[in-house]
Amino acid sequence: MSEATPPYDVIVIGAGYAGLTATHELRKAEKNVLLLEARERVGGRVWTKRFDDGSYVDLGGTWVGPTQDRLYALAREFSVETFRTFDEGKSTQFFRGQVKRYKGLIPPLPIGALLSLDAAIKKMNKLSKTVNLAEPWKTPNAALFDSMTLATWMNQQMRFDVARQFFKIAAEAIWAADPAEISMLHALFYTKSGRDLDTLMNIKNGAQEERFVGGAQTTADRMAATFWDRIVFNAPVKAIVQEGELVTVIAGTKTYQAKRVIVTVPPTLQNRINFQPLLPTQRAQLIQRMPMGSVWKCYAIYEKPFWREQGLNGLAATPDGHITVTFDNSPKDGSQGVMMGFVLGNQAKEFSGLSDEDRKLSALHSFATFFGQEALKPVRYLDHSFMDEEWSRGCYAGLMGPGVWTTLGTTLRQPVGQIHWAGTETSDIWNGYIDGAVRSGERAVKECMMYDA
Ligand SMILES: Cc1cc2nc3c(=O)[nH]c(=O)nc-3n(C[C@H](O)[C@H](O)[C@H](O)COP(=O)(O)OP(=O)(O)OC[C@H]3O[C@@H](n4cnc5c(N)ncnc54)[C@H](O)[C@@H]3O)c2cc1C
Repeated sequence: MSEATPPYDVIVIGAGYAGLTATHELRKAEKNVLLLEARERVGGRVWTKRFDDGSYVDLGGTWVGPTQDRLYALAREFSVETFRTFDEGKSTQFFRGQVKRYKGLIPPLPIGALLSLDAAIKKMNKLSKTVNLAEPWKTPNAALFDSMTLATWMNQQMRFDVARQFFKIAAEAIWAADPAEISMLHALFYTKSGRDLDTLMNIKNGAQEERFVGGAQTTADRMAATFWDRIVFNAPVKAIVQEGELVTVIAGTKTYQAKRVIVTVPPTLQNRINFQPLLPTQRAQLIQRMPMGSVWKCYAIYEKPFWREQGLNGLAATPDGHITVTFDNSPKDGSQGVMMGFVLGNQAKEFSGLSDEDRKLSALHSFATFFGQEALKPVRYLDHSFMDEEWSRGCYAGLMGPGVWTTLGTTLRQPVGQIHWAGTETSDIWNGYIDGAVRSGERAVKECMMYDA
């Protein structure tokens, strides 16, 4: 293995899954690498909060599912086990003041609305198949789809307000943004990137199928432990200067030099880095146009998953209130009951304006509405939003509004001199997900090797 002496072959910026994967790959290729991380931990948007009694919750990225092969491979490499997300029993729907329980995937809605909803999902899946994943701007009718939002398309497709309301719940859970914020082309791209809408929405055969024993950060921690001496924590990069053969990176009060740099920081946060020379205009315009999504996770922890005793799987959906979707996030052995509620899109922005106490009241009120009064007395309640975190400022990922893919998309992965771009937002497969972050790290390393081979 090469010495950790400057100048480095590659400096990687950001120790989320993209940066950790890139560092891991560069180490395998015997490159002299340094990883600079603004936070005092690894994992980035994946953060497992661990409690003194050994229990834990994932405050950020959580689930893994079929076709997320690169993340599964990494977990296997670092001996991290996965387990099935609990989904036995009936789901819950709260609509127009009524709680309804149902089995399977079809919610108990009026038949007209249900048919309209089903047709829209099928249509969106069909349209997504036409997307050119590597170059979305070359998709047939790209200009048309990129000139409208997902909300515009939903309004055109679904005659029934109820159908639109339930489509919106699913869309918000997938993108953590209001459909009015997302370009239809981006929605189609993202749908194909994760296979189809059903995969994105579902537990079984879907993106929520499994979780990691010990939490989603475990693989990141174990990976980092193999190159701990190459990571500098509390090192927010302030400037990247390209001059001559080497790139100079200024982080805090320290200066580092390398032949190449891989930036894995979410696009919009790249605006806080002083690039010299200035980034090319199109790149600079792109990163001004990829806002982060908006989401809160609310966790109520109980002595046991009491809803299971009522034959419920812990899944609930409603168009009303702050929390619109819930999941049973109890540990593998069910030794505690962990209920997780998502507050998404515009509800999340509103939720951010509430006091700690009012957020808790709102969340527990929702849980009680779905699962009964027992929900009002958790052993512990906590909520979290990456919108509040300096080094994320939103989640799950950076999104494209109308007009961005077709005018600036070509610059998303295009290196700028010796700077390469990674991070889940740059992945064409599982964009927005941990698996996409892993793939982006692998791709950026291949790029560096190609130039320096
Ligand atoms: C609430 C929530 C739920 C999610 N659920 C899922 C899920 O269930 N499954 C799934 O697959 N994905 C999920 N995601 C998305 C997933 O977590 C992300 O796609 C993935 O973790 C992104 O990894 P990354 O390495 O690309 O970026 P990040 O994890 O954001 O890594 C970037 C790193 O750069 C650092 N950084 C930022 N600025 C600087 C700077 N100037 N200098 C140095 N370092 C800097 C940050 O601290 C961070 O560590 C979820 C995300 C959230 C927040």
